[in-house]
Amino acid sequence: MNKNKEDILTIVVPCYNEEEVLPETVKELGEILTNLITQSKVSSLSKILFVNDGSKDKTWQLISQYTKQYDYVTGIKFSRNYGHQNALLAGMSVAVKYSDMIITIDADLQDDVNAIPKMVNKYLQGYDVIYGVRNSRKTDTFFKRRTALAFYALMEKLGVNLVPDSADYRLLSKRATESLLRFKERNLFLRGMVPLVGYNSTKVYYARKERFAGKSKYPLSKMIHFAFDGITSFSIAPIHLILYLGLLTVIISIICMIYTLVEKCMGHVVTGWSSLMISIWLLGGIQLISISVIGEYIGKIFSEVKHRPRFTIEDETYTKKMSK
Ligand code: UDP
Ligand code: MG
Repeated sequence: MNKNKEDILTIVVPCYNEEEVLPETVKELGEILTNLITQSKVSSLSKILFVNDGSKDKTWQLISQYTKQYDYVTGIKFSRNYGHQNALLAGMSVAVKYSDMIITIDADLQDDVNAIPKMVNKYLQGYDVIYGVRNSRKTDTFFKRRTALAFYALMEKLGVNLVPDSADYRLLSKRATESLLRFKERNLFLRGMVPLVGYNSTKVYYARKERFAGKSKYPLSKMIHFAFDGITSFSIAPIHLILYLGLLTVIISIICMIYTLVEKCMGHVVTGWSSLMISIWLLGGIQLISISVIGEYIGKIFSEVKHRPRFTIEDETYTKKMSK
């Protein structure tokens, strides 16, 4: 693909109750973007696109204000909270029409904005997919570090292709974004989907910082849900596991059967209560787990076949500004 310095960059920023960080985010991203424009690395039509994911605070008022104030700021307003992944997707699907490259970055400035020019340089060298990879997690809590590590190890065992320590901070070229948008699934796990898009990819390293202000919008419960979603959206290994568990149970029960018959032939008939209780509980437990795992997949199928829209946009200023 022919890449030139008049290419339009759009920086997509999902925001959920981020009024505390937005002023700083606009300032830092604006600086980076205007620098790129003055160095003529990207087109002067490049924009920042804030996606307000149904915030309950003043986030949208702030975005609207910045949209008036700065020519390079635009916004999307969701009709309600649809979640981080949907916000990213909405930003990309709105921006892709006019953009040649799209960078997604969180609003809280944990991801170093100085990696953006590096990503653009890689793009200009001809890469389509550029992952932002954390080379240190010093600022994350011990717990978050350990769980993240365990999660990536587990995903690798399950055969899911992820780029370790890369989150949703990345640059995608127009064609890579278009390919990604052809994935029609509702259970989104973008960091698992991007490697499936293909094209030539590379990494840009940066140090992850503390959240600039405000609290994490990913409490532990949301994190576990997200991790579980990632596993069940990309791997049917849990179902295979059930098969092995079932086989093991059959083998154990055959041994039990032989044991019971031998006992019976030897005339020890009073026994039975303990083995009965153990097998009822064991089998009951295994069956419940198995059913719940299968149920999880059926739930996924259920939510996929409904083909519900992944988000609803209430208001949007990107297209207005770009089509002027
Ligand atoms: N976010 C969102 N919708 C949500 C939750 C989070 O758009 O329902 C955004 C949030 O505003 C931030 C990004 O997703 O820009 C990442 O969230 P956060 O920084 O709270 O997650 P953490 O870095 O703690 O994992
Ligand atoms: Mg964060």
